Amino acid sequence: MEKVLIVGAGFMGSGIAQVSAQAGYRVHLMDIQTAITDRAFKEIRWSLEKLAAKDLLAEPSEKVLARISPERDLSSASEMDWVIEAATEAEELKRSIFQELDRISKPETPLATNTSSIPITCLAQNTRRPERVLGLHFFGPVPLMRLVEVVKGEKTSLEIFERGVAFVQSLGKTPIRVRRDIPGFVMNRIFSAALREAVDLVDQGIATPGDVDAGMRLGYGWNAGPFEIADNAGLDTCARVGQSLKALGAGNLAPSSDLMERMVSEGRLGRKTGKGFYRYSPEGKRLPWEENH
Ligand code: NAD
Repeated sequence: MEKVLIVGAGFMGSGIAQVSAQAGYRVHLMDIQTAITDRAFKEIRWSLEKLAAKDLLAEPSEKVLARISPERDLSSASEMDWVIEAATEAEELKRSIFQELDRISKPETPLATNTSSIPITCLAQNTRRPERVLGLHFFGPVPLMRLVEVVKGEKTSLEIFERGVAFVQSLGKTPIRVRRDIPGFVMNRIFSAALREAVDLVDQGIATPGDVDAGMRLGYGWNAGPFEIADNAGLDTCARVGQSLKALGAGNLAPSSDLMERMVSEGRLGRKTGKGFYRYSPEGKRLPWEENH
């Protein structure tokens, strides 16, 4: 059984752990606190049970869960066939994780990152195996979203790039190849451009988040509007992506207003704190923010 280490057990890491275990991999899920991996296990169990109730799970959820082990440090990297980093979107943090992963894991192990906006090439520079570092950019919620961008860094070998594609397919996901390491890759550039306009229009009082989202669903056939997507992704992560894009010279894709930064400083991080562009009932039902004011 091939082994995968997922670094970071937040929204994305727990989802990647779940789909990897569903696909039959032996999964090690690492975070800095036991409370975080405990919460991740609870969320994975909940998600598996929902899939089982819809007859979408090939085996009992307990069997899938039994393939995932929690970890408090990176030492298990030495035994892995794949490592996927899905820690907080912060460049310094990811650089140091890559340095440590490079030191601990076997020289042939591919090291992937789920970063939304930090260049793969920059993380690869912190390793002695830049040809084995690539982007595997999943979309959240991972158990439901079928797309994964496979991103080639400047030095990623074609062999590892194609192994990344095959790995994504082995999870039952659909890969798209991003052949050059540009800020925001492909999908985040397009989404960020839409979110930039949406955030600026709302901050100027021209439309409400609810109306913009309804507009994109009803007028353009999106399954969810930009604010619904941003609230699900986490406004802290979205704000960091905007800041990274600016730092990388792609500031035209980031909002001009600092609305998201202001919301983050007020604890409005989106679904994960129960309030963002919308507010959320304890059962997770989305409600308009305006009703509260
Ligand atoms: P999150 O805040 O939910 O989770 C991040 C986790 O990383 C936290 O549990 C945190 O404790 C952990 N962490 C911090 N330092 C660590 C360390 N040294 N070692 C191990 N774990 C550590 O964030 P998220 O939304 O899951 O995002 C994770 C990554 O995925 C980011 O790079 C983000 O840009 C990317 N991403 C996010 C989305 C999204 O929709 N949220 C989509 C695609 C990619």
